[in-house]
Amino acid sequence: MAYQYDDQNIFAKILRGEIPNQTVAETDHTLAFSDIYPQAPVHVLVIPKGPYVCFDHFAAEASDAEIADFHRVAAQICADLGVAPGAGGMGYRTISNAGEHPVQEVPHYHMHILGGRPLGRMLQKAD
Ligand code: 5GP
Repeated sequence: MAYQYDDQNIFAKILRGEIPNQTVAETDHTLAFSDIYPQAPVHVLVIPKGPYVCFDHFAAEASDAEIADFHRVAAQICADLGVAPGAGGMGYRTISNAGEHPVQEVPHYHMHILGGRPLGRMLQKAD
């Protein structure tokens, strides 16, 4: 795997407590906090505490315990914030950007959870 983790990225600083965050959930392996520029009434970022750059890096190198915990925390947030359809909510979208084309701004793996308003279709068709 050709990923080099930059420990000066903003989420690494949040994990070290150098930058404040509005925590939504925390476990031994996972931290979830509100996005600083929310794009929807619900906009939470879920990150592993380990040094993974993006989704495929995380899936390849994280332990089963880290991977299971990450997804269970994310799903619990969807239920707790009232957007999970299975809990009577109107639904949510998860997004994970990796690399240049989707414009990954922060090179520490994160899942966006977005909801609380109609979100439209997934992508605009390019010309
Ligand atoms: P990406 O484009 O990498 O998928 O998303 C990065 C996200 O991190 C953006 O939605 C941006 O608003 C958010 N973000 C950037 N800096 C900070 C910060 O210092 N604190 C928080 N809570 N979110 C941040």
